[in-house]
Amino acid sequence: MPTCIHCRHSFSWGEIFYRILVRKGDDIGCPACKGKMLLTARAKKRLFSLMSLLPVLFVFLTIAKAPELVTTIILLVAAAAAVITAPFVVEVTDREQTLF
Ligand SMILES: [Zn+2]
Repeated sequence: MPTCIHCRHSFSWGEIFYRILVRKGDDIGCPACKGKMLLTARAKKRLFSLMSLLPVLFVFLTIAKAPELVTTIILLVAAAAAVITAPFVVEVTDREQTLF
């Protein structure tokens, strides 16, 4: 889990989950010192890659002609795993970073 670059507050999984998947946006506010931070380019790429696995998995299962129930269960489990894992790949910085 990332820590605040201003006050070293250690973010909880729930705080990061809320900011990246519920509220969305690149900025992350520290609840302790109210400092603003941004996602690093590496964190953005990791989150994008993690979420991109779901449509790729869907296409793969469709090509493999997996039964609908199996496809649904696999996609639900994969989506839950991606959502649970997402806060762990977050890194923060105080500067805007370009993706490329
Ligand atoms: Zn802070």
